[in-house]
Amino acid sequence: MQTRRYGRSDMDFSLVSFGGMRFDNPEDTDANAEIVLHAYNKGINHFDTAPGYCRQQSEVIYGAAIGHMDRDRVYIATKSSSPDGDELRAGIEQSLERLGIEQLDLFYIWWVTSLEVWRQRVDGGAVAAAFKAKDEGLVRHVAVSSHLPGDDLKGVINEVDLDGVLLGYCAINFPYRDAAVTAAGEKQMGVLTMNPLGGGLIPQNAERFDFIRDVDDPNVVAAALRFNLSNPNITSALVGFTTKDHVDQACEAAENFKAHSAAHLAKLRENILDQFDGICTGCGYCLPCPAGVEIPKFMDTFNVKVLGGDDRAVAGRMQYHWTLPAETGKECTQCGECEAKCTQHLPICERIEEIVEIAERIGEVQL
Ligand code: SF4
Ligand code: SF4
Repeated sequence: MQTRRYGRSDMDFSLVSFGGMRFDNPEDTDANAEIVLHAYNKGINHFDTAPGYCRQQSEVIYGAAIGHMDRDRVYIATKSSSPDGDELRAGIEQSLERLGIEQLDLFYIWWVTSLEVWRQRVDGGAVAAAFKAKDEGLVRHVAVSSHLPGDDLKGVINEVDLDGVLLGYCAINFPYRDAAVTAAGEKQMGVLTMNPLGGGLIPQNAERFDFIRDVDDPNVVAAALRFNLSNPNITSALVGFTTKDHVDQACEAAENFKAHSAAHLAKLRENILDQFDGICTGCGYCLPCPAGVEIPKFMDTFNVKVLGGDDRAVAGRMQYHWTLPAETGKECTQCGECEAKCTQHLPICERIEEIVEIAERIGEVQL
């Protein structure tokens, strides 16, 4: 499989990376470790996990698989969301033990959902503890993983000399994070994209998203990965695999990958935006809201509903992806400013109301 250099490091990552957040039946360590090993045998060499993924089993599954890999040929990443430096350090030690390795290739300051959360990571000592672990050789590279909007994330990566960034980026939401991808590229940082298939929404709605396919893309999965990886600032796309078939499909797309030219990519981006029908692109033109409602986060959540997600998925998106209380939507005064500016002419107020209603009805979603 083709590889790309991760920022200023000496690591060359396969174009597709394994994201260990979607294992079915996570307690079945052996069956899931087989899927991880299948990916390794297909040429994937970067494996990303986190202590909390899959009911705390993802690192355990990786640990079982890594024992059968040539450690010098693979790169392992994990994360911590702790703001406290001592806790973060203890988390690194626990992750190393679960993974059965002595050093992490990549370690993320994880789940930075707002600038306040970022400030807590700095003030609580987490960021300093991560760099100390790097100095001591427990981790090789320190990066940040975030769902922040592009401009906010740009501020974070300009504040600290990080090695890389992990962010959500796909053909559905690229305008929301473009600024961060470009800034990271300018700083020669590694850039990993999560949810390059829109968290599964693109393949699940293949017909609806057929417009992202170019003439020579065999399917929407190939088209979505090509869209991602044609951005030269992106090192590798993280895909959360559940089956060997998913691995095969993504590996085939990566093996046959041919980047779009810059001019063609620009045309494609315009075309994609023109064809979104009823979907929020995350462009942010509706902001600022005078009442402080985080409109793109609400509208992204509504995308889940438009694309067939059930109410539980909608409530879960607010709770776990955005960690945004749905009742903040009640601050909307229905002034209409956002709807007048929305590039997609979305009924924003109505959608916010619906999300608030769903979240109140469903309550807390258990993962
Ligand atoms: S309609 Fe509601 S969400 Fe939109 S700008 Fe006004 S207060 Fe904010
Ligand atoms: S609601 Fe409209 S203007 Fe706001 S981010 Fe979404 S598409 Fe863009």
